[in-house]
Amino acid sequence: MNPLFHPHLINGPGGDPVVYIEFKFERRAILFDLGDLQSLTPRKLLKVSHVFVSHTHMDHFIGFDTLLRVSLGREKKLFFYGPPGFIRQIESKLNGYSWNLVENYQNALEIIAVEIRSDQMREVSFPVQASFRRRPEETVRPFNGRLLEEESFGIQAAFLDHKIPCLAFALEEARHLNILRTGLEALELPKGLWLKALKEAVWREEGDDFPIRVWTRDPARFPERFFPLGFLKKHLVKITPGQKITFAVDTILNDDTERILMDLARASDLFFCEAAFLDADRERAREKYHLTAGQAGRLARQAGVKRLVPIHFSPKYAADPSLLEREAQEAFAGRT
Ligand SMILES: [Zn+2]
Repeated sequence: MNPLFHPHLINGPGGDPVVYIEFKFERRAILFDLGDLQSLTPRKLLKVSHVFVSHTHMDHFIGFDTLLRVSLGREKKLFFYGPPGFIRQIESKLNGYSWNLVENYQNALEIIAVEIRSDQMREVSFPVQASFRRRPEETVRPFNGRLLEEESFGIQAAFLDHKIPCLAFALEEARHLNILRTGLEALELPKGLWLKALKEAVWREEGDDFPIRVWTRDPARFPERFFPLGFLKKHLVKITPGQKITFAVDTILNDDTERILMDLARASDLFFCEAAFLDADRERAREKYHLTAGQAGRLARQAGVKRLVPIHFSPKYAADPSLLEREAQEAFAGRT
């Protein structure tokens, strides 16, 4: 497979959490979490269009200034998504500086903050030409677990529990649908516009009996015929799931968060999951509302994840972070 999205963990497993996901065919990137960004070049930072912030503890939000600074004077919209209270916190960050000279900027940078609550998403805008004062209009939409839908991918989010609401995120690439040339040959069916209708019927998830008209512009050569969708699907269509990348940090493990995380991370190709403490220190992890490496590994295994990347190690293990890596991977492999 030729992946469309290239994720990089920026500060290693011991540093501030940031996953930079680069798009293959666009000059574009998104960020999961907004810890220290100083190791990213301005060139890379300028590709960022959307930022997803789990919660606003300092190590997850301190990169805001770095990103804002390189983006000033650019014509772009920068979207930030975060948990309850997020709009006020973005506003407070912007209010922390004086902006008396930016009103004349030719290029219109616009900061857009989207605050996610349990049942709704509120969106407000802070344009540079208004010295980043909040526009009075506010858009309110219901929150159904989906933050963003684009043609090639979508972003989902779910709430975890870090003694404050904390968001976990998943990027899902759209499925690929291919028509098998060998299937067409075997059934002696022509290529043509009807294949588009076939694909659309598959996307719409029509029933197996749904009739598909097979035709060409030359009825003398191929008189039109009808086939049930189920039959054509079986012989002609190959659906490949897209890439899935999940990111979860800073949560206690209980029945609720376990279920939520399993659902979100299910069948991910890549799962960035916090592994803050060792199982031996699980009481400490619980008191601090964090996961252990063993918990991360077992969760990833149960969710059918393909690859686990344990992150956000506690500085307690700075002398030997490989302990956390090993414990997580052993649990993931089902050996503990
Ligand atoms: Zn944290």
